[in-house]
Amino acid sequence: MTRYTGLIERYRKRLPVTANTRLISLGEGNTPLIQLHNIPKLIGKDVTIYVKFEGLNPTGSFKDRGMTMAVTKAVEAGSQAIICASTGNTSASAAAYAVRAGIKAFVLIPEGKIALGKLAQTLMYDAKIIQINGNFDRGMALVKEVAELAPVTIVNSINPYRIEGQKTAAFEIIDELGYPPDFHCLPVGNAGNITAYWKGYKEYSTYSQGQDAVCRGRPVMCGYQAAGAAPFVQGAMVDNPETIATAIRIGHPQSWDLAWTAQQESGGWFDKFTDEQILAAQKMLSQHEGVFCEPASATSLAGALHDISTGKIPEGSVIVCTLTGNGIKDPEIAMQQCADAKPVTIDASLDQVKKAILDSL
Ligand SMILES: *Cc1c(COP(=O)(O)O)cnc(C)c1O
Repeated sequence: MTRYTGLIERYRKRLPVTANTRLISLGEGNTPLIQLHNIPKLIGKDVTIYVKFEGLNPTGSFKDRGMTMAVTKAVEAGSQAIICASTGNTSASAAAYAVRAGIKAFVLIPEGKIALGKLAQTLMYDAKIIQINGNFDRGMALVKEVAELAPVTIVNSINPYRIEGQKTAAFEIIDELGYPPDFHCLPVGNAGNITAYWKGYKEYSTYSQGQDAVCRGRPVMCGYQAAGAAPFVQGAMVDNPETIATAIRIGHPQSWDLAWTAQQESGGWFDKFTDEQILAAQKMLSQHEGVFCEPASATSLAGALHDISTGKIPEGSVIVCTLTGNGIKDPEIAMQQCADAKPVTIDASLDQVKKAILDSL
């Protein structure tokens, strides 16, 4: 059995590296594709739903797929520093891969609008954090401007190597299932990921894995946004995006045209869901499947469940939902979600512990 240390090694023939490229890797990729067993029964529909749990990447989000590639290429080009604007996960990922490479990371984050776990990680990885009193979109604009004036490589998803790394998630899905799913659902913020999956599916199906891939073609791409940050649903940029799903609190997506191409070529669609619907899906996944993702990630399941219920996604379908990040990243939302389930405190006695168990059986 081949032991891969990361996705660049595993898919190096399809990625822009040479035998001499020094790979900057933390063993990213190869994340589990988990079939949901309880939720389809709960909703009473004959559908096969898998979740691609990207929260199990080294820094807890799919951003690592793109970052291993972007930092590898930045180092190859002689760059000494990288920079990004971030809602949290990109900054954590950039910081970790920069440390690994021995270069500097600068991250611009919207003050007060990133989840606690992401801030803690980024601090621990020793990045230079620049907080701005503006949102992600403002940070992104500033990063693009400053990169013209200072020797830093941008590692947001406008960096084409990010897309190259991220497309490998589609490869893994086809390798594991043996065919592409009928529908692929994912949350959309900056829209780099939907762009990357579509690129991956298109590239891989031309090197079909067998009869199945040929028969089933490519998935329909379903991009889901938060109701308060839904430029693709409105068909126009949004100036003051708002949602508790901070990872997709983006009003001016950078991959605007590419995401529309993915939607059109795949025959897919965009839709939006309220914070309540997103939080309900997050809780449902944790409480019925044992999979804990962050709020933004659950948007993919919220959307899939909605479209299954209306029949837009028909019974008999094979569906993959990308869970973009780990639930542990956002402990504050998790605690709010479970405000009614406060742990009981009792005396440290055998009697009391026994009573507590029998009372709740
Ligand atoms: C970055 C991110 C997204 C959005 O991905 P885009 O490529 O910007 O559309 C969604 N969920 C999580 C957890 C993220 O970190």
